[in-house]
Parts: sequence; C-alpha cells; structure tokens
Amino acid sequence: MLKVAKFGGSSVAGAEQFQKVKAIVEADPSRRVVVVSAAGKRSSDDHKLTDLLYLCHAHLTYGVSCEDILQTIQDRFAQIRSSLGLTYDVEGEFAALRARLNKETPVDELVSRGEYFTARLMAEYLGYEFLDAADCVFFGFDGRFDLEKTYAAIRAAAQKGCGLVIPGFYGSLPTGKLKLMTRGGSDISGALAAAAVDADVYENWTDVSGILMADPRIVENPSPIEHITYSELRELAFMGASVLHEDSVQPVKDKGIPLNIRNTNRPQDPGTMIVEKIDGQNENRDRFITGIAGRRNFTILTVRKHNMSSSAVLRQALETLERYHVPVEHITLGLDSFALVASSAALGDRLFDVVGDIQKTCLPDDVQIQDSIALVAVVGRKMTYRPGTSGKIFQALGEHGVNIRIINQAADEISIIVGVDNNNFETAIRVLYDGFAG
Ligand code: ASP
Repeated sequence: MLKVAKFGGSSVAGAEQFQKVKAIVEADPSRRVVVVSAAGKRSSDDHKLTDLLYLCHAHLTYGVSCEDILQTIQDRFAQIRSSLGLTYDVEGEFAALRARLNKETPVDELVSRGEYFTARLMAEYLGYEFLDAADCVFFGFDGRFDLEKTYAAIRAAAQKGCGLVIPGFYGSLPTGKLKLMTRGGSDISGALAAAAVDADVYENWTDVSGILMADPRIVENPSPIEHITYSELRELAFMGASVLHEDSVQPVKDKGIPLNIRNTNRPQDPGTMIVEKIDGQNENRDRFITGIAGRRNFTILTVRKHNMSSSAVLRQALETLERYHVPVEHITLGLDSFALVASSAALGDRLFDVVGDIQKTCLPDDVQIQDSIALVAVVGRKMTYRPGTSGKIFQALGEHGVNIRIINQAADEISIIVGVDNNNFETAIRVLYDGFAG
C-alpha cells in the first residue's frame, strides 16, 4: 500500500499544524510521499506566504524595498524551525536569496520559495528525503506537463525506498527555469506524484472534512459527501463548488486512483472519497442526491422564429456567440424557439452586438433577453433511471414559490439544472437540500 498525501497551506501554516501533519503521516506507514503547499494563514487576519511573496515581487519590480515583507516571511519559517527543534539554516538560505534578488528576478523563482522552504522544513521534521519539484516536475516548451519525464523522475526517487517530501505548485521548464502553476496548483503536484508512483490513494489534506453537499454559506451545517464519482464532482465543480484545483483530477482519474479529501484538524473524519465508480455496498440508499451547487448571474437569450428549421437557425446563433468568444452553458430547444444560456459577465458589453448579429443572421421573429438568472444543479448518480426524480424536484421548488425559468437534464441523467431568478437562488438551494439531502 502506498499513499501520496498532499497538505494544503492551512495544514502547514505553523508549528502546531506541522505537528498534526507528522501525527497523520506516522499513523499510517503507507503515507510515504508527501506534497506540501506554502505555509498559509494561521488565523483569518493572517497572510498566506504565497500572497506575501507575490507582494514582494511587485515591490521588486517597482524598485521599492521589500525587506519588511521578506523578513516577515523569514520569521515565519524561523519560528516553525525553532518551535520544532529543527536545524534548517533559514537565515543562511534567506541571506542567499536576498543576494540573488533584483528587478529582473522572475516571479516564478521568488514565489516558489514558499513551497520550497515549507517542504525543506517538513522533510527534516518527518525525517523524509527532500525532493525538489525543480528536479521532478517538468513542463514542455508549450507550458504543458511533460508527464513521461515527470512520472519517471518521481518514480525513480520513490523507488529508493525512503519517504519523500516534494514542494507543490512549481516545476521546471526545459530551459531549467522554474515555472509556477496556477493558484492552488499544489493539488496538481500531489496528483502528479500519486499518478507517478501508482498510489493506492491520493489524499488531499485540507481544513474541511470533505466536500459538502451544499454551500455552508447558504445551508446551515450541510453534511459532507462520503462518496462521489469523478463525473459528479466535475458537474458540481462546474456549477461553483470549489474544493480542488480542477486540473488536479485528471492525472489520478486517468490511473483509476481514488482521491480522498481529508481534514488535517479532524483526522478521525473519513472525508470524501472520489472514485471512478461506486459499488453498491457503499451506496447510501436513502439519498438520491450527491450534492447541490449553483451560480448566479446568467443571461437567457430566447430566439423565436415561426416554422424555423431549428438546426440551421440554432447553428447561426451559436456561431454568433462563438465569434464573440461567449461560451454557451446550456441550450433548450422548443418547436419554434430555442434559448441559449450564457454567463452575464461573459456577455458583458457585447450583449447588444450579439443580439444585433443574431437578428441579422437568423432573421428571427423576436429575441428576448432575460438576465439575473441563477443556475442550480442537483447532482446525483442515483438519479439515473430513477423515475419521478425531476418531478419531485420541480414540485418542491413550486411549493416554495420558486418559479423555474429553464430546465436542463443531461442525457446521462446525473444532473438536473434549473434556472431561477437570482432572488430565488438561496431559497432554491435550501429547499432542495432540506427536501432531498439533509
Ligand atoms: N501556495 C500556492 C497558492 O497559494 C499553491 C497552493 O497552495 O496550492 O496558490
């Protein structure tokens, strides 16, 4: 058994969190590959080291001293080192870093030091080998991961048999220069490490006990999701549920490796297990909903044309939106009309140009614009082939006075999406949670 455990910024924010990480790693000898983010916030008014490093770089670029910020970062590391009785030469490393810094220092080089120093300290604390991401996570010239080279390097290091700590969030380009991933990218580093060593599980340790069935800012105390498939997760993430970096799923999904989201502050909680397929035994028979998510601020463009040849007119309208680089999120089709749903932000100032072009190319009888629409997705693999599911959902919303403006069910039946007025967004989510998930 081999597990890759990635610990996010809040899990490595200070000495106390390091102790929790050590207890977690020592509780299971199969946790032999550890990936860390940079130390994050210790409290709500604290700062993430990554944010401070970006700030430092902005100062450098404008020729303003970043000494105070750099000292704050150094102190954070020195404090962790001293509280845990480690020996890593934080002062010496920072002196060398200061000597290298100038106006031209690439942002990737400076910002990656957050993960680098956190991983150095963690490696010493766990008694694991430090493996620099510069030597094992590789990008090609096109900026994409060179998976073959990355997997070979991580696998070779892991085969030596000792535990490894790898800093997340960066790797190196073929030129040898460092390259950062997008924010939250340590999730991807962890997934790459898990795929490289064919891990039995990729554990993603964070500060929540898994993915919640609904947004806790809307629903009080929503239950965590115990099991979810990768497809369901994709639907929820697309509709606004944010837990993992979206690019982190693919490497583990491709290899059929389960992904377990866990809480460093409550290691006794099982968290959420994300898998390709769920066998019958793990199914909770009572609930047919896995999760509810949604986003506000969509616009519906309804195009009406009597006796239209729908496919040709629809194609022309879609081409128009494509020309304006506006992604179409949903389409509903009627006999003499169709509706296109797009994010209001994506349409922005182009809305009236888009409508003007649709009028020119499609020659419709009428184009209607409805904005301030929220989309709410009810996601659940158990909705598939289950008669009456959508009826129950619509009835519950209707009974609570929520008018449904559009309905969309994908052919695989794992999600039903309803469009409601922005004003009804929270009510819709609460009604659906209370009715079917709670
Ligand atoms: N430290 C980086 C960030 O704050 C990467 C990560 O945490 O995954 O975005």
